[in-house]
Amino acid sequence: MSNKSKRPVMAYAMIAVLVLVAIAYVARPFLAPKTTVTSPAQPSSPAPNIPQVAVPEFHADSAYLFVKKQVDFGPRVPNTTAHKKCGEWLVKEFKRYGFVVIEQKVSAPYYKGGFLNGVNIIAQYKPELTKRICIAAHWDTRNEAEKDTKDQNKPIDGADDGGSGIGVLLELARTLHQNPVDIGVDLICFDLEDNGDNGGSNDTWCLGSQYWAKNLHRPAYMPYYAVLLDLVGAKGAKFYKEGISMDVAPNLVNKIWDMANVLGYGEYFIPENRGGVTDDHLFVIRHARIPMIDIISLPYEGEKMFGDHHHTHADNMDIIDKNVLKAVGQTMTELIYRTNNGVM
Ligand SMILES: [Zn+2]
Repeated sequence: MSNKSKRPVMAYAMIAVLVLVAIAYVARPFLAPKTTVTSPAQPSSPAPNIPQVAVPEFHADSAYLFVKKQVDFGPRVPNTTAHKKCGEWLVKEFKRYGFVVIEQKVSAPYYKGGFLNGVNIIAQYKPELTKRICIAAHWDTRNEAEKDTKDQNKPIDGADDGGSGIGVLLELARTLHQNPVDIGVDLICFDLEDNGDNGGSNDTWCLGSQYWAKNLHRPAYMPYYAVLLDLVGAKGAKFYKEGISMDVAPNLVNKIWDMANVLGYGEYFIPENRGGVTDDHLFVIRHARIPMIDIISLPYEGEKMFGDHHHTHADNMDIIDKNVLKAVGQTMTELIYRTNNGVM
């Protein structure tokens, strides 16, 4: 068969597809918007081992506003009013969505002297249930911009570094409130993550998670899955399989990356391994023995591994990309609702 003879058939096929798309588009307002089956949508890319489950849509517009609201408080630097105000707002928001919130106070020595005062905000969905998923992020921001060329001593907005992960957690809380599940979910906002000694000891970072891992909010807490989100909102984000995560929970990492790729987020979730990074999950693994994995953007290797905006004043709302929030948020929504349906 020549290429020529294929053309009319192709043209008819194209017209048929266009008509179907037009019908679908016109019908859209009449379809129930709340719960959509998001995977696997395309029969052309079969995923035989991934059964279909009704999963609600993760609204990136709403997540974006949750990031902006945090940034609007000002830098959430421990021991400041903006930090305190933002923490109070976070507690109120989670309660608004029916979560039972524990405010775990932490006071830890600051490597430059004095103490950093913070609070781990532990938002529990259906705390009475024993099967639980834990998704965490940090909510404090850095008090300096050591990687910038100017104003290095001024705190950063931390739209991505801090704001993005918490924005996703808040939108997950709102989603769960609207679309109940029969498993427990703990959304943990760690404090005092980001004011450590650059080039110094690992232990000067992640002070909130270090404390939580030694003082768990539930005795013998062992969630079914535990995931950390960090730097999950910036343009050009690339999520590689982080080294420590692959050491402690390779199956979970592989499942999440496979799922994200089936959902069409292969541009962000790259199925390649990268080295380990010091982040809250390291201390959760070390002190609580919970195999927490880290979804963290590592677009480059070497010195600028976290991206050009990292720990600079460019980490502001301009760097936030709703498509990235959507990719991470929808993948986490899938994780929760698939686990609820026993297919994860
Ligand atoms: Zn940071």
